[in-house]
Amino acid sequence: MIEKRITVAKGDGIGPEIMDATLAIIKAAGAKLEIEEIEVGEKVYLSGNTSGISGDAWDSIRNNKVFLKAPITTPQGGGYKSLNVTMRKSLGLFANVRPCVSYDPYVRTKHPELDVVIIRENEEDLYAGIEHQQTDEVVQCLKLISRPGCEKIIRYAFEYARAYGRKKVSCFTKDNIMKQTDGMFHKIFNEIAPEYPDIETDHWIIDIGTARLADTPEIFDVIVTLNLYGDVLSDITAQISGSVGLGGSANIGASCSMFEAVHGSAPDIAGKNIANPSGLLKGAILMLNHLGQSDVATKVENAWLVTLEQGIHTGDIFKEGISTRKVGTAEFAEAVISNLANKPQYLNAVNYETGADFPLPVYKRSTPANKVLKGVDVFVDWSGGTPDDLGAILQNLNGNAELIMITNRGVKVWPDGMEETFCTDHWRCRYQAPDNADLKKEDILEILQKAIEHKVDVIKTENLYEFDGVRGYSLGQGQ
Ligand code: NAD
Repeated sequence: MIEKRITVAKGDGIGPEIMDATLAIIKAAGAKLEIEEIEVGEKVYLSGNTSGISGDAWDSIRNNKVFLKAPITTPQGGGYKSLNVTMRKSLGLFANVRPCVSYDPYVRTKHPELDVVIIRENEEDLYAGIEHQQTDEVVQCLKLISRPGCEKIIRYAFEYARAYGRKKVSCFTKDNIMKQTDGMFHKIFNEIAPEYPDIETDHWIIDIGTARLADTPEIFDVIVTLNLYGDVLSDITAQISGSVGLGGSANIGASCSMFEAVHGSAPDIAGKNIANPSGLLKGAILMLNHLGQSDVATKVENAWLVTLEQGIHTGDIFKEGISTRKVGTAEFAEAVISNLANKPQYLNAVNYETGADFPLPVYKRSTPANKVLKGVDVFVDWSGGTPDDLGAILQNLNGNAELIMITNRGVKVWPDGMEETFCTDHWRCRYQAPDNADLKKEDILEILQKAIEHKVDVIKTENLYEFDGVRGYSLGQGQ
């Protein structure tokens, strides 16, 4: 097997100790790796670089394309940017993969059967971080969901399921409420699923799906979901498996990938040789599979399972009656190394040898739809009275387009609103041409010009389009 050059960062806090332990184990297991070390994190931040990473370090990651990263400390305050978020976005790491497995009775859990992989979209959704204050009372965050984003992550989930011998992929969304954004994710899931007839599928509304996951995780196998839901789900799943401290995660992109532990840099126990290296070791196992060194990944994970079974535990998971020996970080690594030829007897042995490395899905852009302007939502900052008062003012802006509805926080308040509806100072005012005629951009300019003349404070507009005759915008609640 050819030696693969990877970039490694030992990070902050317990980072160097758990990285040394991890590298010692995977090298002893026969990983064919050449290590190029870079510095990221606290020292780089405190040297005045607010991104926590230097230009040379970027070059190393981009050349080697595979990055094994120990946790880092992000200093509080001072405008330091999260290195993880920067990495994900800059390197296009669109898929976050977090396998969660129970190791009961060695690590106690209420869910001994849990074996779930959370595959989270990693680049878009509310994490685009596009936020604005629009009025005294209202701020907004844009939730951006794209067809390429959905297609890439959903195909990835199916490919992953196939490569790892998983039986089912479950899609989690809230498309009963967010019909456009979450609706697109669900629709694309339904489009792609028939391409994988060997894999069972289902869809869960995120609230009841999460409740079932927390209560009956054994009914799930692979879960694919949007960024924010995936963030919450992956922590819940890791926690109910027994310990967040035992989880690794992969961030996969078309050209680069990053592998790490789920936990942070644990400064409270740094330098004491008591940290558990298992989370980072799990990240390294994901990396070995990604590199096609699945035989080594299998050997390492089985040796780790044997060590758990032997009760050789670091302090964080040590339990009288179950554990036999409390060890430090380096001793734990030695125990795993001494078990490299062994297979677990009680826990399920892994066997990744069946091609866990798989080609990434490529997005193909289809012919654009016919896009027709049908109206405009004009957002207004106003606190001068009742919705009927505002309706009377806004009808002054009618021209080719006419005011057909006003909503406040999405609820229709004009015409025929209910007095009980609480209103803020943020109004969405919908204009459309009569008889469902098309609108021109000039008609929008006319509305805006009249708004200035009538001293109406427009804060933004949103165009209403049909795509191939299908409405591309939501109706007001009560419309
Ligand atoms: P943390 O995960 O570092 O620690 C939480 C608790 O778990 C602490 O009591 C710690 O001692 C314990 N713990 C964590 N890992 C352990 C291990 N391997 N073995 C034994 N015990 C372990 O979370 P935190 O305290 O919220 O954050 C500390 C720092 O880590 C912060 O600067 C945070 O920004 C950073 N962080 C980094 C990453 C990352 O680099 N991916 C992720 C999360 C947090």
